Amino acid sequence: MSPHSTADLLTRRYATLGEHSPLFYREPLELVRGEGVWLTDATGRTYLDAYNNVPHVGHAHPAVADAVNRQLRTLNLHTRYLNHVVVDYAEALLETFADPLDRLFLVNSGSEANELALRVARQHTGHTGVLVSDFSYHGNTTSLAQLTTGLTVAEPLGDHVRALRIPDAAGLTDAEASVLCASALQEADQAIASLQAAGHGLSAVLFDPLFSTEGLLRPPQGYVEGLAARVRAAGGLVVADEVQSGFGRLGDVMWGHELFDLSPELVTLGKPMGNGHPVGGVVTTAELLDEFGRRNMYFNTFAGSPVSSAAAHAVLRVMDAEQLRPRARQNGEFIAARLEQLAREYPAVASVRGQGLFFGLTLVRPDGSAAPEAARALTERMREAGVLISKIGREDNVLKMRPPMVLERAEAELLLDRLAACLSALEPAA
Ligand code: PMP
Repeated sequence: MSPHSTADLLTRRYATLGEHSPLFYREPLELVRGEGVWLTDATGRTYLDAYNNVPHVGHAHPAVADAVNRQLRTLNLHTRYLNHVVVDYAEALLETFADPLDRLFLVNSGSEANELALRVARQHTGHTGVLVSDFSYHGNTTSLAQLTTGLTVAEPLGDHVRALRIPDAAGLTDAEASVLCASALQEADQAIASLQAAGHGLSAVLFDPLFSTEGLLRPPQGYVEGLAARVRAAGGLVVADEVQSGFGRLGDVMWGHELFDLSPELVTLGKPMGNGHPVGGVVTTAELLDEFGRRNMYFNTFAGSPVSSAAAHAVLRVMDAEQLRPRARQNGEFIAARLEQLAREYPAVASVRGQGLFFGLTLVRPDGSAAPEAARALTERMREAGVLISKIGREDNVLKMRPPMVLERAEAELLLDRLAACLSALEPAA
């Protein structure tokens, strides 16, 4: 039993952390325990977690807990001594990248990773201009707030930033998609020209290969490659933010950028990397890492400490031992097929999004306009039905489902059954 009431805890949280520190749900959920894909609240009720990607290999995985415990009892300190645990991890992680991505900066979070990647790009190119998607989120530092368009921030878009509307080809014919692609690339040309005219030049394009905050958009074939080619022609670098799309979640690929015919110069990592232990990274080329290292004494006290590295290495080992990427592919295909069926049955479901164990449903009103109220209602109903999901997108109408990678087939079925029941409570099947 919990020693306090949830209402009491909420009052104390507001009194200490303030009322603006975000919480999910109309009635915030007090969680006390996790195991695998399951979470337990303060009353002892369990929920299927179909939202959290940080506990990548499952909540409270014993192999991660043991690795952290062992390392904490052995040695943990800052990063300026030689220690094999750190190097062992760097080697194991870099093995999962194709050449020439064979160097790693360790950091503590996704924000730090993006901050550092943009700094590397700025110094390498001598330019400051940045392209982002016009509904994206890359982190919470001052310079990232200046390029944030997908969450409310007080900072205006920086003068050195241009936000591109990412084209979405879902539901289009090939011919329509290629027209859309051409006009979106023209927009990119204009944005680059405007950065050059303003004297910023172009240092980088920064994008999430899954366009997840944007609502899991599906850009037309060739768009991302075309954008990267234009960025490089203008002297800029390509930065893939793999904080959400990385570590095999997409099933078919280990890294989201592998969905495209594209090798970014910089790849940023976070969230799932340490299964909840705060660790992030920037993977890049030897040339860029060495150039930055020669010019800067880059020191980061906690980043990739022996304990962080032990946690992160345990994640990779569990992924291998439990074959989590192939499982994400198989379960992802099974889930996608069932979601397509729901889309046929329920007119409110306009499209199925995502890949592997990251999927979404776009919800619309009878007139075809976005239905954020339906997404809100379904998220709440699913919680009542014992399944945690969330919502994303420019119009806040895309259900977001992204369970830990250890999801079993039976748990996927439970998720889908509850989703179908909640959809039919909202609107009878067609
Ligand atoms: N990039 C992306 C795509 C993210 O989703 C997030 C976090 N939501 C970040 C960067 C920032 O990561 P962190 O919160 O670890 O700083």
